[in-house]
Amino acid sequence: MTPFAATICWVAGLVIWFIIRYPHQRRSRKHQIVDSRDRASQQSLVAISVVGVGLIPAIWALTGFPEGADLPFSPIAAWIGVVAVAAYLWFFYRSHKDLGHNWSATLEIRAKHTLVTSGVYHYVRHPMYVSFWLMAVAQALLLQNWFVGLAGLVGIGILYFFRVKKEEKLMLDTFGGTYRDYSRKTARLIPFIY
Ligand code: SAH
Repeated sequence: MTPFAATICWVAGLVIWFIIRYPHQRRSRKHQIVDSRDRASQQSLVAISVVGVGLIPAIWALTGFPEGADLPFSPIAAWIGVVAVAAYLWFFYRSHKDLGHNWSATLEIRAKHTLVTSGVYHYVRHPMYVSFWLMAVAQALLLQNWFVGLAGLVGIGILYFFRVKKEEKLMLDTFGGTYRDYSRKTARLIPFIY
């Protein structure tokens, strides 16, 4: 594994990410929104995360900036990064498939929204956010520059921590006791731990 091959793996992950998301993005436009929370601030959070997992690593991949933060290349870390790419794509694919028409990029309830508790949602309440965290970890392992690695983790961290409680409140307001029972039985990101 070379630094160039690691960068190609990072790019390939993003390309597949878009291929998985595209049909859901298209279909979601057809489903009416019946409740939407903090749309503008939630969109800003998405934009911040895109800076961390898109813009900053892309600048580094294309220009090498900031060189001063480069780390000595570890092929082993890069191989673990490849495994993290496979894992984040799997979680991303599964969570879209299981959420179906209930998916939204921000905090929204769609017409005929149903609470999904099966498939990967049987094990964790936020598998798509598991995927986002793994994506940031993959970035840190593949693009071995401490600033770029940190940018991804901070970008996803901001999105996650400013969103998750509000999203759970939205689900609670919509599904009441059913969501409360589901939350009691299911971890947020890591079964039995968190
Ligand atoms: N937090 C989830 C979903 C992310 S998509 C995950 O990480 O997998 C965000 C949208 O999904 C929110 O607008 C919310 O309306 C919807 N959502 C979240 N959990 C859901 C569930 N268990 N069933 C149905 N819709 C859900």
